[in-house]
Amino acid sequence: MDEIEDINPQELKSGLKKIRRRRWFFWIVIMAYLPAMLIALRSSQPNQAIGIVFIVWILSLVVAVTLMALVRCPQCGNCFHMNGFMFRPVRKCFHCKLHLTADKKK
Ligand SMILES: [Zn+2]
Repeated sequence: MDEIEDINPQELKSGLKKIRRRRWFFWIVIMAYLPAMLIALRSSQPNQAIGIVFIVWILSLVVAVTLMALVRCPQCGNCFHMNGFMFRPVRKCFHCKLHLTADKKK
């Protein structure tokens, strides 16, 4: 499915909003690693706390990457961040080059 269809602005907006939400979740998980580790280091049993924080963080990261990889582009219907097995968290659709903020420019 490579042809670009005309879709209504409402659909475009809600689709891009969903992509932006999932991207935020992904970056928040990435950025939470250091503060979470610092908090774990200060606990009474640091080794155990670090292990728990690491497992929770890895699971959150897997969920965040999966959600981000599977999100569909509202314009072309392909996966926004995926091309075959390549995952690239950039701000444009891999297939139709739709920008993440295309709904805000109009
Ligand atoms: Zn697209």
